[in-house]
Amino acid sequence: MSLTLHDTLSRRKVAFTPRPDSNRITLYVCGPTVYNDVHIGNARPVVVFDALYRLLKAVYPDHQVVYARNVTDVDDKINAAAQAEGVPIREITERFAERYRTDMGRLGALPPDLEPRATEHIAPMRELIAALIGNGAAYAAEGHVLFDVTRYAAYGALSGRSLGDMIAGARVEVAPYKKNPQDFVLWKPSKPGEPEWPSPWGPGRPGWHIECSAMTEATLGLPVDIHGGGHDLIFPHHENEIAQACAAHGAEQPRAYARYWMHNGFLTMDAEKMSKSLGNVVRVRELLERWPGEVLRFALLSAHYRAPLDWTDALLEQAKKSLDRLYGALDDARRLTGEIGRGRIGTEADRAVRELLCDDLNTPGALSALFATSDRLRAELRAGQASAAAETAEVLVAEASLLGLLQDDPHAWFTRGADAGLSARIEALVAERVQVRAAKNWARADEIRAELTALNVEVLDGPGGTATWRLKA
Ligand SMILES: [Zn+2]
Repeated sequence: MSLTLHDTLSRRKVAFTPRPDSNRITLYVCGPTVYNDVHIGNARPVVVFDALYRLLKAVYPDHQVVYARNVTDVDDKINAAAQAEGVPIREITERFAERYRTDMGRLGALPPDLEPRATEHIAPMRELIAALIGNGAAYAAEGHVLFDVTRYAAYGALSGRSLGDMIAGARVEVAPYKKNPQDFVLWKPSKPGEPEWPSPWGPGRPGWHIECSAMTEATLGLPVDIHGGGHDLIFPHHENEIAQACAAHGAEQPRAYARYWMHNGFLTMDAEKMSKSLGNVVRVRELLERWPGEVLRFALLSAHYRAPLDWTDALLEQAKKSLDRLYGALDDARRLTGEIGRGRIGTEADRAVRELLCDDLNTPGALSALFATSDRLRAELRAGQASAAAETAEVLVAEASLLGLLQDDPHAWFTRGADAGLSARIEALVAERVQVRAAKNWARADEIRAELTALNVEVLDGPGGTATWRLKA
């Protein structure tokens, strides 16, 4: 099965092929700057590239897929947060890196294989800077080291900008020590109280862009196969990553750094980009208090990753209803056929969905395919075709697992609002209901029904006088 991806550098869909000389496929995605809880816009690339990670593993079972997502743990905003709270910087970065991992896990994202931290890669950053100075692509000035953008001929190739236009349109305040207005910082002095490391150019700390170039190379080796991130990282962050890495190694072609570039579109609220500077952000944590993580994941996958996605309550309600429908079909199947098999990924079972995802991660198409399978399952259940239904249920689980969906036990999905105490009480009532109905004690059966209704419980009768229950939506 061939995989096509939209490559930002080519500006079109291209066939993805693994490197002929390697049995590894490497994926690097720019991760969070850990100084507060992330908003749902920051979670979009995590879910999108998690879907890609799962797909790569399914399509290339003979390759080792290695996924690195960095943690930026040195930054002005981190320093400011630590100062505001009066705690050490490390306390801020540890706390928010951990909360990030927890939140992304609740969105069903697999942990990346590697999670490089900027502060643990200062040495390779310094080496890269030294190589750039050695090649004449960077210069030291007043305690700073700057990249000279005129020294990398392909500068602007990723974002489609020409250096001439950039310089003409420069509105940035130009520091007197810069040779060109677009030159960017590789190393800068730290202010008192900020973290700093020794260097040949004076004590200081790295710029943000050099962090990712160094961590990509140090953790995955070059060229990385797929480099991803949000659309807003194309310029300047990724443009600068390419320039640094290529100029340091004397490579002319941008693909010497990353073979394919993928970028996800923005999340919007009321048609405006969700961003901290606009103040229209909604944090993943707040959403998780109101919605299961899987609802957020479903909503994020409901649009194509390159298209903008408008984040509304209606979107979330629709995602919740969709999951209720899919889990409902599985729960009905379970009651008719017993436990549902897991269905192996990468087999005939998930082929239809895999093909859709292989077309540049067509997640809306893949979600529609899940509904087609669940409709088939419902038809088989209505017709009492137990063995066909058992097979189709397994296909549905396999298809959905490519998207990281429907991995919960269906009964758990419909009872998740009940704590252990309430669950035990409901279970006891449901069991008693089965007994009193068998004994034709209709008066008690009516009492139990009233009690369960008051608890917002729906009872579903299964084969052989058994019964199961759900909390009503
Ligand atoms: Zn980055």
